[in-house]
Amino acid sequence: MEIHRVLLLLGSNLGDRTEKLASARSLLLQSVGPVVQASREYETEPWGDFAGGETPGPFLNQAIAVETALGPEAVLDAIQQIERELGRPEHRPEYAPGGKRLYHDRAIDVDILFYDSEIIDTKRLTVPHPRLAERHFALEPAAEIWPDYVHPSLKISLKELFNSILLGDSQ
Ligand code: AMP
Repeated sequence: MEIHRVLLLLGSNLGDRTEKLASARSLLLQSVGPVVQASREYETEPWGDFAGGETPGPFLNQAIAVETALGPEAVLDAIQQIERELGRPEHRPEYAPGGKRLYHDRAIDVDILFYDSEIIDTKRLTVPHPRLAERHFALEPAAEIWPDYVHPSLKISLKELFNSILLGDSQ
């Protein structure tokens, strides 16, 4: 059985964030495989647009390395199941006029940053994660635990990539 190494990014900005990350790690252990490395937990400002003019609270982000026998799509299925399990609304869901569901903060978000050194581009999955290189909050924890990992398409190490975005002062 082949074992793959996967780098995941966990993020939470709702409820007991430390507890959400811990729950995600234990569910990942059950459905994906052992968590062999974990970065420290980084508090980061929200990035991107949020619905309803709401001011979201800060995120807690953590990169973790998991060993798994699952293929990339099966890892995605497992993390989406975990997001559903931990992300259940703690209050009634809200709907816009017309019935469209309104989303706000994220109880838990799990992204696949890397899967071995594979480059994957399917309808459901883009790996390496496409926005990693421009997101300080994703790159810093990733570079903490995998500094010498060479980004399969950019061909530079995470440590070098992180240093280059620090110099470029991007978020
Ligand atoms: P988000 O709600 O921002 O977590 O985005 C989830 C969507 O991104 C899902 O529909 C996934 O199929 C898709 N996706 C594409 N690439 C990735 C990736 N590397 N990790 C996690 N989700 C991904």
